[in-house]
Amino acid sequence: MSDRDKIMATNDYVQNEAFFQTLIEHSANAIVLMQPDGCIAYASPATASCTGYPPEEFAGRNSFTFIHPDDLVAVQAALATVMALANRTESVEYRFRRTSGSYSWFRGTFTNLLFRPAVHAILSTMCDISEQKRAEELLRKNEESSRALLAREQAVLRQEEEVSRHLNDLFMQAPAMVCVLQGSEHRLELVNDAYRQLYPRRGFVLEATVRENWPDLEDQGFFEELDRVYQSGKAYVANEKLAMVDREDSGVREAGYFNIVYQPVFDAQGSVEGIIVYVMEVTEQVLARKRIQESEARLRRLIDANIVGVTFCTLDGHINEANDVFLQMVGYTREDLRAGSIDWARMTPPEYEELDAQAVRDLRAQGAIPRPYEKAYWRKNGTLLSVVVTAAALDEANPNECIAFILDNSMQRELDQRKDDFISMTSHELKTPVTSIKGLTQVLLKRFEQRDEPDIKRMLVIMDMQLNKLTKLIGDLLDISKAQGGRLIMEQKPFDLDTLVSETIEQVQATTTTQHIKLIGKTNVTIMGDRDRVGQVIVNLLSNAIKYSPRNSPIVVKVFREGRQAITWIQDFGIGIDLSHHDKLFNQFYRVTDPREPYPGLGIGLYLSRQIVERHNGKIWLHSKKGEGSIFAFSLPVV
Ligand code: ADP
Repeated sequence: MSDRDKIMATNDYVQNEAFFQTLIEHSANAIVLMQPDGCIAYASPATASCTGYPPEEFAGRNSFTFIHPDDLVAVQAALATVMALANRTESVEYRFRRTSGSYSWFRGTFTNLLFRPAVHAILSTMCDISEQKRAEELLRKNEESSRALLAREQAVLRQEEEVSRHLNDLFMQAPAMVCVLQGSEHRLELVNDAYRQLYPRRGFVLEATVRENWPDLEDQGFFEELDRVYQSGKAYVANEKLAMVDREDSGVREAGYFNIVYQPVFDAQGSVEGIIVYVMEVTEQVLARKRIQESEARLRRLIDANIVGVTFCTLDGHINEANDVFLQMVGYTREDLRAGSIDWARMTPPEYEELDAQAVRDLRAQGAIPRPYEKAYWRKNGTLLSVVVTAAALDEANPNECIAFILDNSMQRELDQRKDDFISMTSHELKTPVTSIKGLTQVLLKRFEQRDEPDIKRMLVIMDMQLNKLTKLIGDLLDISKAQGGRLIMEQKPFDLDTLVSETIEQVQATTTTQHIKLIGKTNVTIMGDRDRVGQVIVNLLSNAIKYSPRNSPIVVKVFREGRQAITWIQDFGIGIDLSHHDKLFNQFYRVTDPREPYPGLGIGLYLSRQIVERHNGKIWLHSKKGEGSIFAFSLPVV
């Protein structure tokens, strides 16, 4: 039968409905007729084998309820497309729920046969593609795993590249200088940035020998060491090696210190094929250490020179180390020192304990004592040694230890003593003749009182005034030596302060016609003490106020009470005193001297005034600025 005849025969079959029925019923694919809303009108027998449901179970059910919710949109979209046109066919893949409840993949084809009166439905065929899907899935997974494998391999490769780049970076940017030399002539294979920084102008030539690349190192033994390493296979290590290097390639070599390692590199056969050179510059550290060593040596020389006593001690008294001068001063031996039996705190008499405590506070706070101070030590034999001491903390981290310098002050003390004795002796010696001259002057003044000899009278008055001054001076000098020896005797009798102040003002006012002293206030208090001595303080302060202020400027004396204290304050509008002198002004013989304005005096008045006030348990102080006048004040406890 020809092809054409075959087609003709088929057409015959087409006419035959039974033939179609048979065809549908024996088709391996499930065939379903459904309405656009998904309602199933017919399901072919093959639906049973495809889906597990007998065909009659589909009748009247909605096909959408069997479709996996995730695929429903795609199915309905395909249906919508099909519906738009008669005979239109669309394919879509979806999962269909079997009787077992599990889903299987199907490819469904929808054909719009709604317009055909005989059918009036959408023809849907279902072809089970689970196997194909499984195969596809397998393929996808395979692809995925090979892709992952590839990616892993690439990552490993990248990592390796990264590591070698990192190593290279490390090598190039290492803080140490590194270079690689090859062969017996030490030809340069690699040199890092640190090397180039040491020699910023040098163009290193790869493949050239070390001797060609480092001509500045010739004759310093380095190349010979490289030869030895190459021949022996043993590494060379040197610390703080001095090298003369021409850093700037200017022809001038300068000293540098380097830590050096020459490390041999072996080939597969175990023979040396090259050398890795590591060099670290340590010039700064070496020089800093040398400087410290030098200053330590200098300090040691100073200590051993035995000019002053030096001790290393703790702030609580223990002396760890001392030089010979100190040991001789205090009469202890080196054995005593080693046995730990020298303790500066125990060697200190109680009256100096407060001074020492202040020094320790200064050391803790500032690491040093602001000014050397005088004190004394008991020697081992029990005698007293007068010294001047200063100290500094040894280490900020350990403020408990210090270095102390001790100067024997006994000579100075002895001189001071001699001076005091001299003052005391001369003032005593002067006192007797001056007293007798004063007496005789008084007699003469009386005799000439009635006579008409104005010139002689005037001269005698001047003599008397000068003798008063001299008597006061001798009295002050005697008082000074008494105060130093603790022999300044104070009476203990009650007296009225207001009366004393006004009487003293009257007395001082009588000595001057150029300045007026004004008294303000009243205390109404009684003071217990030495009336004459307190009067002496007021006289001193008033005389100073007169002496150090211009003519016609007023002087104000104010008295008032403040709690248990009676304050007397004396104000002038004179030359004033710079702040830098305030703390020294009450010291013996201290004077503020200005050659342009010479004022007579010895610097005794304020010293004695302080001694007297303090012996009365009072205080004396001042407020003053240069050019702005002064206020001197003292307080005395009220009875
Ligand atoms: P002096 O005999 O020198 O006056 P003082 O002990 O009384 O001795 O005073 C010490 C120093 O204090 C004086 O030399 C002077 O420089 C200064 N001084 C004292 N009082 C005054 C004052 N009222 N105004 C200015 N300077 C004063």
